[in-house]
Amino acid sequence: MSKSSHLADRIQNLQPSAIRELLKHSKMPGVISLAGGIPSSELFDKEGLAQATQIVVEQNFNDAFQYGLTEGNVELRQQLVGLCQERGITTTPEQMLITSGSQQALDLLIRALANPGDVFVVERPTYLATLQILSLTEATVKSVGGDEHGMIVDELEALLKTTRIKGVYLVPTFGNPSGTTLSAERREKLVKLAIEYDFVIIEDDPYGAISFTENREKTLFQVAAEMGNHENVVYTSTFSKILAPGLRVGWILMPDWMKHKVAIIKQATDLHANSFSQSLVSAYLSLNRLNPQIALIREAYKQKCLSLSRYLHDELGDHISFNQPQGGMFLWAKFRYDFDTTKWLEQTLAKGVVYVPGEFFFSDNADKKTLRFSYATASDEQLFEAVQRLKSAL
Ligand code: PMP
Repeated sequence: MSKSSHLADRIQNLQPSAIRELLKHSKMPGVISLAGGIPSSELFDKEGLAQATQIVVEQNFNDAFQYGLTEGNVELRQQLVGLCQERGITTTPEQMLITSGSQQALDLLIRALANPGDVFVVERPTYLATLQILSLTEATVKSVGGDEHGMIVDELEALLKTTRIKGVYLVPTFGNPSGTTLSAERREKLVKLAIEYDFVIIEDDPYGAISFTENREKTLFQVAAEMGNHENVVYTSTFSKILAPGLRVGWILMPDWMKHKVAIIKQATDLHANSFSQSLVSAYLSLNRLNPQIALIREAYKQKCLSLSRYLHDELGDHISFNQPQGGMFLWAKFRYDFDTTKWLEQTLAKGVVYVPGEFFFSDNADKKTLRFSYATASDEQLFEAVQRLKSAL
Protein backbone atom coordinates (compact mmCIF):
# COMPACT_ATOMS: atom_id res chain seq x y z
CA MET A 1 0.00 0.00 0.00
CA SER A 2 1.32 3.44 -0.92
CA LYS A 3 2.50 5.50 2.01
CA SER A 4 0.31 8.36 0.77
CA SER A 5 -2.68 6.43 2.11
CA HIS A 6 -1.52 7.73 5.51
CA LEU A 7 -2.64 11.16 4.39
CA ALA A 8 -6.03 12.26 5.73
CA ASP A 9 -8.92 11.61 3.33
CA ARG A 10 -9.61 15.29 2.82
CA ILE A 11 -5.95 15.85 1.86
CA GLN A 12 -5.74 13.04 -0.71
CA ASN A 13 -7.60 14.96 -3.42
CA LEU A 14 -6.12 18.34 -2.66
CA GLN A 15 -4.96 20.05 -5.86
CA PRO A 16 -2.08 22.51 -6.15
CA SER A 17 -3.05 26.06 -7.09
CA ALA A 18 -3.04 26.19 -10.89
CA ILE A 19 -1.82 29.74 -10.68
CA ARG A 20 1.18 28.91 -8.53
CA GLU A 21 2.10 26.21 -11.09
CA LEU A 22 1.74 28.72 -13.90
CA LEU A 23 3.93 31.21 -12.14
CA LYS A 24 6.79 28.78 -12.60
CA HIS A 25 6.46 29.26 -16.39
CA SER A 26 6.15 32.99 -16.03
CA LYS A 27 9.65 33.09 -14.51
CA MET A 28 11.20 31.60 -17.68
CA PRO A 29 13.46 34.09 -19.50
CA GLY A 30 11.68 36.18 -22.12
CA VAL A 31 8.16 35.23 -21.02
CA ILE A 32 5.78 38.13 -20.42
CA SER A 33 3.42 37.26 -17.60
CA LEU A 34 -0.13 38.53 -17.47
CA ALA A 35 -0.85 35.65 -15.10
CA GLY A 36 -0.01 36.31 -11.45
CA GLY A 37 -2.00 38.59 -9.19
CA ILE A 38 1.24 40.14 -8.10
CA PRO A 39 1.59 43.84 -7.32
CA SER A 40 4.29 45.71 -9.20
CA SER A 41 7.42 45.70 -7.02
CA GLU A 42 8.67 48.70 -9.00
CA LEU A 43 5.98 50.69 -7.21
CA PHE A 44 6.96 49.61 -3.69
CA ASP A 45 7.74 52.63 -1.51
CA LYS A 46 11.38 51.77 -0.93
CA GLU A 47 12.20 55.03 0.83
CA GLY A 48 9.17 54.87 3.13
CA LEU A 49 9.72 51.21 3.97
CA ALA A 50 13.39 51.92 4.72
CA GLN A 51 12.44 54.80 7.04
CA ALA A 52 9.84 52.65 8.76
CA THR A 53 12.41 49.88 9.23
CA GLN A 54 14.78 52.33 10.87
CA ILE A 55 12.04 53.58 13.21
CA VAL A 56 11.23 49.99 14.21
CA VAL A 57 14.84 49.11 14.96
CA GLU A 58 15.59 52.33 16.82
CA GLN A 59 12.32 52.96 18.63
CA ASN A 60 10.30 49.75 18.77
CA PHE A 61 12.92 47.08 19.02
CA ASN A 62 11.33 45.02 21.80
CA ASP A 63 7.83 44.93 20.31
CA ALA A 64 9.20 44.05 16.90
CA PHE A 65 11.29 41.09 18.03
CA GLN A 66 9.19 39.78 20.92
CA TYR A 67 6.07 37.57 21.01
CA GLY A 68 2.90 39.65 20.77
CA LEU A 69 -0.85 39.49 21.34
CA THR A 70 -2.88 37.04 19.24
CA GLU A 71 -5.29 39.85 18.31
CA GLY A 72 -2.36 41.88 17.00
CA ASN A 73 -0.21 44.91 17.75
CA VAL A 74 -2.31 47.39 19.77
CA GLU A 75 -1.01 50.51 18.05
CA LEU A 76 -1.54 49.03 14.61
CA ARG A 77 -5.12 48.11 15.44
CA GLN A 78 -5.76 51.68 16.60
CA GLN A 79 -4.30 53.02 13.36
CA LEU A 80 -6.44 50.57 11.37
CA VAL A 81 -9.57 52.03 12.96
CA GLY A 82 -8.61 55.29 11.23
CA LEU A 83 -7.81 53.57 7.94
CA CYS A 84 -11.17 51.76 8.01
CA GLN A 85 -12.90 55.08 8.73
CA GLU A 86 -11.40 56.45 5.51
CA ARG A 87 -13.11 53.52 3.76
CA GLY A 88 -16.40 54.48 5.38
CA ILE A 89 -16.26 51.71 7.99
CA THR A 90 -16.80 52.43 11.67
CA THR A 91 -15.02 49.89 13.84
CA THR A 92 -12.97 49.43 17.03
CA PRO A 93 -9.65 47.71 17.84
CA GLU A 94 -11.63 45.09 19.77
CA GLN A 95 -13.47 44.01 16.62
CA MET A 96 -10.20 43.42 14.86
CA LEU A 97 -7.76 40.55 14.44
CA ILE A 98 -4.46 41.06 12.61
CA THR A 99 -3.70 38.13 10.33
CA SER A 100 -0.91 36.85 8.14
CA GLY A 101 -2.51 38.42 5.05
CA SER A 102 -6.13 38.05 3.98
CA GLN A 103 -5.36 34.52 2.94
CA GLN A 104 -5.04 33.49 6.57
CA ALA A 105 -8.12 35.53 7.42
CA LEU A 106 -10.14 33.47 4.96
CA ASP A 107 -8.72 30.23 6.32
CA LEU A 108 -9.51 31.16 9.94
CA LEU A 109 -13.00 32.38 9.12
CA ILE A 110 -13.98 29.40 7.03
CA ARG A 111 -12.53 26.98 9.56
CA ALA A 112 -14.50 28.75 12.28
CA LEU A 113 -17.76 28.47 10.35
CA ALA A 114 -17.76 25.32 8.27
CA ASN A 115 -18.88 21.89 9.33
CA PRO A 116 -18.36 19.19 6.67
CA GLY A 117 -21.33 19.44 4.31
CA ASP A 118 -22.29 23.01 5.25
CA VAL A 119 -23.19 24.96 2.14
CA PHE A 120 -21.03 27.94 1.15
CA VAL A 121 -21.89 30.00 -1.87
CA VAL A 122 -19.32 31.63 -4.12
CA GLU A 123 -19.60 33.71 -7.26
CA ARG A 124 -18.97 32.14 -10.65
CA PRO A 125 -16.04 32.88 -11.20
CA THR A 126 -14.38 33.31 -7.80
CA TYR A 127 -10.98 33.55 -6.06
CA LEU A 128 -9.31 30.20 -6.48
CA ALA A 129 -7.56 29.98 -3.10
CA THR A 130 -10.88 30.29 -1.26
CA LEU A 131 -12.08 27.22 -3.13
CA GLN A 132 -8.98 25.43 -1.82
CA ILE A 133 -9.76 26.44 1.77
CA LEU A 134 -13.37 25.34 1.38
CA SER A 135 -12.26 21.97 0.05
CA LEU A 136 -10.07 21.50 3.16
CA THR A 137 -13.08 21.94 5.43
CA GLU A 138 -15.18 19.55 3.32
CA ALA A 139 -17.88 22.20 3.00
CA THR A 140 -20.27 21.89 0.07
CA VAL A 141 -19.63 24.64 -2.44
CA LYS A 142 -22.43 26.02 -4.56
CA SER A 143 -22.04 28.84 -7.03
CA VAL A 144 -24.21 31.61 -8.38
CA GLY A 145 -23.49 33.53 -11.57
CA GLY A 146 -21.86 36.92 -11.89
CA ASP A 147 -22.24 39.64 -14.52
CA GLU A 148 -20.88 43.15 -15.02
CA HIS A 149 -22.60 44.22 -11.75
CA GLY A 150 -21.07 41.42 -9.70
CA MET A 151 -22.79 38.45 -8.08
CA ILE A 152 -26.34 37.91 -9.39
CA VAL A 153 -28.08 38.21 -6.05
CA ASP A 154 -31.48 37.14 -7.46
CA GLU A 155 -29.92 33.75 -8.27
CA LEU A 156 -28.76 33.50 -4.67
CA GLU A 157 -32.27 34.33 -3.48
CA ALA A 158 -33.68 31.50 -5.61
CA LEU A 159 -31.13 29.11 -4.10
CA LEU A 160 -32.01 30.22 -0.57
CA LYS A 161 -35.60 29.13 -1.14
CA THR A 162 -34.48 25.50 -1.38
CA THR A 163 -31.15 25.30 0.41
CA ARG A 164 -29.87 26.15 3.89
CA ILE A 165 -26.78 28.28 3.35
CA LYS A 166 -24.11 28.85 5.99
CA GLY A 167 -22.00 31.44 4.26
CA VAL A 168 -21.53 33.52 1.13
CA TYR A 169 -18.00 34.43 0.09
CA LEU A 170 -17.35 37.24 -2.35
CA VAL A 171 -14.90 39.90 -3.49
CA PRO A 172 -17.47 42.63 -4.04
CA THR A 173 -15.13 45.39 -5.22
CA PHE A 174 -12.84 44.98 -8.26
CA GLY A 175 -13.18 41.23 -7.96
CA ASN A 176 -10.54 38.62 -8.56
CA PRO A 177 -10.78 37.35 -11.26
CA SER A 178 -13.76 39.21 -12.72
CA GLY A 179 -12.61 42.81 -12.10
CA THR A 180 -16.28 43.69 -11.51
CA THR A 181 -17.93 45.56 -8.64
CA LEU A 182 -21.19 44.62 -6.96
CA SER A 183 -23.76 47.36 -7.56
CA ALA A 184 -25.20 49.38 -4.64
CA GLU A 185 -28.63 47.86 -5.20
CA ARG A 186 -27.29 44.31 -5.06
CA ARG A 187 -25.22 45.11 -1.96
CA GLU A 188 -28.32 46.18 -0.14
CA LYS A 189 -30.29 43.16 -1.28
CA LEU A 190 -27.50 40.74 -0.37
CA VAL A 191 -27.24 42.11 3.18
CA LYS A 192 -31.03 41.98 3.58
CA LEU A 193 -30.98 38.33 2.49
CA ALA A 194 -28.18 37.58 4.96
CA ILE A 195 -30.31 39.00 7.76
CA GLU A 196 -33.52 37.31 6.62
CA TYR A 197 -31.99 33.87 6.04
CA ASP A 198 -29.29 34.27 8.70
CA PHE A 199 -26.15 33.39 6.79
CA VAL A 200 -22.70 34.92 7.14
CA ILE A 201 -21.23 37.11 4.40
CA ILE A 202 -17.45 36.91 4.11
CA GLU A 203 -16.46 40.18 2.44
CA ASP A 204 -12.96 39.93 0.97
CA ASP A 205 -11.69 43.40 0.07
CA PRO A 206 -8.03 43.43 -1.00
CA TYR A 207 -8.59 45.72 -4.01
CA GLY A 208 -11.22 48.28 -2.92
CA ALA A 209 -8.62 50.98 -2.31
CA ILE A 210 -7.23 50.64 -5.85
CA SER A 211 -10.03 52.54 -7.56
CA PHE A 212 -9.49 54.30 -10.89
CA THR A 213 -12.29 56.78 -10.22
CA GLU A 214 -13.57 58.71 -7.21
CA ASN A 215 -16.70 56.52 -7.05
CA ARG A 216 -16.79 54.22 -4.03
CA GLU A 217 -19.40 51.62 -3.24
CA LYS A 218 -20.05 51.15 0.48
CA THR A 219 -18.58 47.99 1.93
CA LEU A 220 -21.10 45.26 2.76
CA PHE A 221 -19.87 45.56 6.36
CA GLN A 222 -20.96 49.18 6.40
CA VAL A 223 -24.23 48.54 4.53
CA ALA A 224 -25.12 46.03 7.27
CA ALA A 225 -24.07 48.44 10.06
CA GLU A 226 -26.31 51.13 8.56
CA MET A 227 -29.20 48.66 8.73
CA GLY A 228 -28.34 48.18 12.41
CA ASN A 229 -26.86 44.74 11.76
CA HIS A 230 -23.49 43.93 13.36
CA GLU A 231 -23.80 40.15 13.27
CA ASN A 232 -23.91 38.85 9.70
CA VAL A 233 -20.95 40.36 7.83
CA VAL A 234 -17.25 39.75 8.38
CA TYR A 235 -14.76 41.92 6.52
CA THR A 236 -11.17 41.23 5.60
CA SER A 237 -8.56 43.40 3.92
CA THR A 238 -4.81 43.48 3.56
CA PHE A 239 -1.69 45.57 3.05
CA SER A 240 -0.60 43.21 0.25
CA LYS A 241 -1.84 45.25 -2.69
CA ILE A 242 -1.40 48.74 -1.26
CA LEU A 243 1.97 48.37 0.47
CA ALA A 244 3.81 45.05 0.07
CA PRO A 245 2.58 41.43 0.03
CA GLY A 246 5.79 40.02 1.50
CA LEU A 247 4.98 41.64 4.84
CA ARG A 248 1.97 39.30 5.18
CA VAL A 249 -0.19 41.70 7.16
CA GLY A 250 -3.96 41.70 6.83
CA TRP A 251 -6.89 42.13 9.18
CA ILE A 252 -10.43 40.94 9.93
CA LEU A 253 -13.37 42.86 11.37
CA MET A 254 -15.72 40.46 13.15
CA PRO A 255 -18.97 40.36 15.09
CA ASP A 256 -18.68 39.69 18.83
CA TRP A 257 -20.13 36.19 18.56
CA MET A 258 -17.20 34.91 16.51
CA LYS A 259 -14.16 37.01 17.39
CA HIS A 260 -12.98 35.07 20.45
CA LYS A 261 -13.24 31.70 18.73
CA VAL A 262 -11.44 32.93 15.63
CA ALA A 263 -8.69 34.33 17.88
CA ILE A 264 -8.32 30.89 19.48
CA ILE A 265 -7.95 29.27 16.04
CA LYS A 266 -5.33 31.90 15.20
CA GLN A 267 -3.56 31.12 18.48
CA ALA A 268 -3.51 27.42 17.66
CA THR A 269 -2.25 28.14 14.14
CA ASP A 270 0.65 30.55 14.70
CA LEU A 271 0.14 32.41 18.03
CA HIS A 272 0.08 35.78 16.29
CA ALA A 273 1.03 37.56 13.07
CA ASN A 274 4.70 38.42 12.54
CA SER A 275 5.66 41.04 15.16
CA PHE A 276 8.28 42.72 12.99
CA SER A 277 5.91 43.13 10.05
CA GLN A 278 3.17 44.53 12.26
CA SER A 279 5.58 47.04 13.83
CA LEU A 280 6.85 47.95 10.39
CA VAL A 281 3.34 48.61 9.04
CA SER A 282 2.54 50.63 12.14
CA ALA A 283 5.71 52.74 11.73
CA TYR A 284 4.94 53.16 8.02
CA LEU A 285 1.42 54.38 8.77
CA SER A 286 2.86 56.94 11.22
CA LEU A 287 4.84 58.45 8.31
CA ASN A 288 1.59 59.38 6.52
CA ARG A 289 2.88 57.97 3.26
CA LEU A 290 0.18 55.35 2.67
CA ASN A 291 -2.36 57.58 0.91
CA PRO A 292 0.17 59.10 -1.52
CA GLN A 293 1.42 55.55 -2.13
CA ILE A 294 -2.10 54.32 -2.89
CA ALA A 295 -2.61 57.29 -5.23
CA LEU A 296 0.57 56.28 -7.09
CA ILE A 297 -0.59 52.67 -7.44
CA ARG A 298 -4.08 53.71 -8.57
CA GLU A 299 -2.70 55.96 -11.29
CA ALA A 300 -0.11 53.43 -12.50
CA TYR A 301 -2.60 50.53 -12.67
CA LYS A 302 -5.22 52.74 -14.30
CA GLN A 303 -2.81 53.60 -17.13
CA LYS A 304 -1.75 49.97 -17.54
CA CYS A 305 -5.37 48.85 -17.56
CA LEU A 306 -6.26 51.42 -20.22
CA SER A 307 -3.27 50.36 -22.32
CA LEU A 308 -4.07 46.66 -22.13
CA SER A 309 -7.74 47.34 -22.93
CA ARG A 310 -6.76 49.42 -25.95
CA TYR A 311 -4.33 46.82 -27.31
CA LEU A 312 -6.81 43.99 -26.76
CA HIS A 313 -9.58 45.97 -28.38
CA ASP A 314 -7.47 46.92 -31.42
CA GLU A 315 -5.77 43.58 -31.98
CA LEU A 316 -8.13 40.94 -30.61
CA GLY A 317 -11.47 42.75 -30.46
CA ASP A 318 -12.97 40.44 -33.11
CA HIS A 319 -12.09 37.43 -30.99
CA ILE A 320 -12.67 38.42 -27.37
CA SER A 321 -14.89 40.69 -25.31
CA PHE A 322 -14.06 42.02 -21.84
CA ASN A 323 -15.30 44.28 -19.04
CA GLN A 324 -13.60 47.61 -18.52
CA PRO A 325 -12.35 47.39 -14.88
CA GLN A 326 -12.81 50.48 -12.70
CA GLY A 327 -10.07 49.41 -10.30
CA GLY A 328 -7.99 46.50 -9.05
CA MET A 329 -5.55 44.38 -11.01
CA PHE A 330 -7.54 42.15 -13.34
CA LEU A 331 -9.15 42.15 -16.72
CA TRP A 332 -11.52 39.26 -17.36
CA ALA A 333 -11.98 38.34 -21.00
CA LYS A 334 -14.05 35.87 -22.96
CA PHE A 335 -13.74 34.47 -26.45
CA ARG A 336 -16.67 35.36 -28.65
CA TYR A 337 -16.83 31.79 -30.00
CA ASP A 338 -16.26 28.30 -28.70
CA PHE A 339 -12.69 28.14 -27.44
CA ASP A 340 -10.56 26.33 -24.84
CA THR A 341 -8.24 28.84 -23.13
CA THR A 342 -6.53 26.07 -21.10
CA LYS A 343 -5.38 24.33 -24.27
CA TRP A 344 -4.43 27.63 -25.88
CA LEU A 345 -1.97 28.34 -23.08
CA GLU A 346 0.50 25.85 -24.57
CA GLN A 347 0.57 27.87 -27.79
CA THR A 348 0.83 31.25 -26.10
CA LEU A 349 3.58 29.94 -23.85
CA ALA A 350 5.51 28.89 -26.96
CA LYS A 351 5.16 32.52 -28.13
CA GLY A 352 6.29 33.79 -24.70
CA VAL A 353 3.17 35.04 -22.95
CA VAL A 354 1.09 33.61 -20.08
CA TYR A 355 -2.32 34.38 -18.60
CA VAL A 356 -4.60 32.34 -16.33
CA PRO A 357 -7.21 30.18 -18.08
CA GLY A 358 -10.64 31.03 -16.70
CA GLU A 359 -11.71 27.49 -15.86
CA PHE A 360 -9.62 27.46 -12.67
CA PHE A 361 -11.84 30.11 -11.12
CA PHE A 362 -15.01 28.06 -11.30
CA SER A 363 -16.19 25.62 -8.67
CA ASP A 364 -18.58 24.13 -11.28
CA ASN A 365 -19.94 24.91 -14.76
CA ALA A 366 -16.53 26.19 -15.87
CA ASP A 367 -16.57 28.48 -18.88
CA LYS A 368 -13.54 27.48 -20.95
CA LYS A 369 -13.88 30.53 -23.17
CA THR A 370 -12.78 32.82 -20.33
CA LEU A 371 -9.35 33.99 -19.21
CA ARG A 372 -7.84 36.39 -16.69
CA PHE A 373 -5.22 38.97 -17.50
CA SER A 374 -3.34 40.87 -14.81
CA TYR A 375 -1.93 44.19 -16.00
CA ALA A 376 -0.19 45.10 -12.73
CA THR A 377 3.40 44.02 -13.34
CA ALA A 378 4.05 44.36 -17.09
CA SER A 379 5.31 47.66 -18.54
CA ASP A 380 3.38 49.41 -21.30
CA GLU A 381 5.78 48.06 -23.94
CA GLN A 382 5.42 44.56 -22.53
CA LEU A 383 1.62 44.83 -22.55
CA PHE A 384 1.79 45.83 -26.23
CA GLU A 385 4.20 43.01 -27.05
CA ALA A 386 2.12 40.49 -25.03
CA VAL A 387 -0.98 41.25 -27.09
CA GLN A 388 1.00 40.90 -30.35
CA ARG A 389 2.19 37.51 -29.14
CA LEU A 390 -1.33 36.46 -28.16
CA LYS A 391 -2.50 37.43 -31.64
CA SER A 392 0.24 35.43 -33.29
CA ALA A 393 -0.71 32.40 -31.16
CA LEU A 394 -4.27 32.40 -32.49
N1 PMP B 1 -8.29 37.51 -1.54
C1 PMP B 1 -8.14 37.79 -2.84
C2 PMP B 1 -9.35 38.02 -3.66
C3 PMP B 1 -6.87 37.87 -3.41
O1 PMP B 1 -6.74 38.15 -4.72
C4 PMP B 1 -5.73 37.65 -2.60
C5 PMP B 1 -4.32 37.70 -3.15
N2 PMP B 1 -4.13 37.27 -4.42
C6 PMP B 1 -5.94 37.35 -1.25
C7 PMP B 1 -7.22 37.30 -0.75
C8 PMP B 1 -4.81 37.07 -0.31
O2 PMP B 1 -4.03 38.17 -0.12
P1 PMP B 1 -2.96 38.29 1.04
O3 PMP B 1 -2.95 37.02 1.81
O4 PMP B 1 -1.66 38.58 0.38
O5 PMP B 1 -3.44 39.42 1.88
